[in-house]
Amino acid sequence: MKEKHYEVVIVGGGISGGALLYELARYTDVKNIALVEKYGGLATLNSKGTANSQTVHCGDIETNYTFEKAQKVSKTARMVVKYGLQHGYQGKYMFDGQKMAIGVGDVEVDYIKNRYEEFKELYPYLEFYDKAELAKIEPKIILNSDGTHRAENVVGMGVKSGEYTTVDYGAFTTTFIENAKKDKSECDVYLNSRVDEIYRNGDKYYIQTANGLSISADFVVVNAGAHSLYLAHKMGYGLDFGCLPVAGSFYLTKQKLLNGKVYMVQNPKLPFAALHGDPDILADGCTRFGPTALALPKLERYHENWGSFLDFCKTLNFDTAIAGILFDLFKDSEIRNYVLRNFLFEVPYLNKKLFVKDARKIVPSLTTNDIYYAKGFGGVRPQVLNKTEKKLMLGEASINPKTGIIFNMTPSPGATSCLGNALRDVREVCEYLGRNFNEAKLNEELFD
Ligand SMILES: Cc1cc2nc3c(=O)[nH]c(=O)nc-3n(C[C@H](O)[C@H](O)[C@H](O)COP(=O)(O)OP(=O)(O)OC[C@H]3O[C@@H](n4cnc5c(N)ncnc54)[C@H](O)[C@@H]3O)c2cc1C
Repeated sequence: MKEKHYEVVIVGGGISGGALLYELARYTDVKNIALVEKYGGLATLNSKGTANSQTVHCGDIETNYTFEKAQKVSKTARMVVKYGLQHGYQGKYMFDGQKMAIGVGDVEVDYIKNRYEEFKELYPYLEFYDKAELAKIEPKIILNSDGTHRAENVVGMGVKSGEYTTVDYGAFTTTFIENAKKDKSECDVYLNSRVDEIYRNGDKYYIQTANGLSISADFVVVNAGAHSLYLAHKMGYGLDFGCLPVAGSFYLTKQKLLNGKVYMVQNPKLPFAALHGDPDILADGCTRFGPTALALPKLERYHENWGSFLDFCKTLNFDTAIAGILFDLFKDSEIRNYVLRNFLFEVPYLNKKLFVKDARKIVPSLTTNDIYYAKGFGGVRPQVLNKTEKKLMLGEASINPKTGIIFNMTPSPGATSCLGNALRDVREVCEYLGRNFNEAKLNEELFD
């Protein structure tokens, strides 16, 4: 087969790959672009609507974000909302509604009060809710099963309506590709094409796939989730990183218990977002609780088994530095107990009983009969271990050796930041290739 050459090849058809394809097609004069995806469809892993929490993480109710991080994510979250509005996806793939972070008990109540005072300037629409108001707008978080009010004080900060809170990121991925194709005629998508090897010869990168595609590129962006680091390591990049895949599962209720998203105060010691409950837009609005956090020896769920396990072993990049980071995490009793508890959340029979105890902090009347393990839901967060800094990185990581190739790893809130991350990479691609980027048009369309 004759080799086909592209100016840019994107590896990975999740929301990160889709968003980059869209921005390159719409805002640059890059001549031709290809996206290469290993499975038969787009967004079948973490970007799938049922794999993640469907939340637009703009930083207003995420108590694990600092003020600085909230400022940053609010901008990229707004890009996603602006994109949805521009194409008329509100009510179809993007929904507004109520959302809040609650504090339960005196310590958390004080925490929420202080956080509300600090954050209300950045988010002028934020409201503060006392227990009586919460009983009206989100009654299940206040009522016991006998109809009395729970004993602890509870307060919340959030918004009742008017803000877009929820996106079907799987559907958004498909729209990115469709809209990119409208903007650029030479925009090819190859499905069922697992990239096994990328190598450089002269100025070009050659992309070898399991199905024998023959393509090359001047610039490659690898947006393959946890597999990005696997491919980076194969090329000798990112060797100071290891990847710890942390699976997140969910439990669903048979009825609609909550009117909107309810997040809890984050334990600052824990690296993953606190449990929350919200209406699932793909489960008829029934309430979804989760995600759990379980370290898993696989780079992905539901598709592969042994292959993914072997890739995990290589990508963990285990040595004394990684052992040191893991040891430091596990020697903290709170983290150790959290890890153990999350493991038990996956064990049949025990799981529901234990999980319901935690979820009762949100809905005190919840019983094991109300919930069931959401089979096939959830995904894997590719958490990055940084050997140089000897720590678990909490956000995304990008390896850019400035040689015409970039590797991105995107744990939560990677879906919310997809257009922001794509913008960073579009700048790099255009500078490297000497192509024009119509940033004014992007600013006009995707920023306020
Ligand atoms: C439980 C959970 C809850 C989350 N909740 C939220 C949330 O509420 N809000 C939010 O913003 N984010 C959330 N996230 C994070 C978010 O889902 C991810 O950051 C985002 O989906 C990552 O998108 P991606 O395109 O980078 O990766 P993925 O969606 O994982 O896509 C990677 C793609 O690359 C393909 N691929 C892999 N290897 C190869 C190869 N060798 N060749 C070709 N293709 C390859 C895969 O098949 C896949 O299609 C959550 C994640 C989890 C796990």
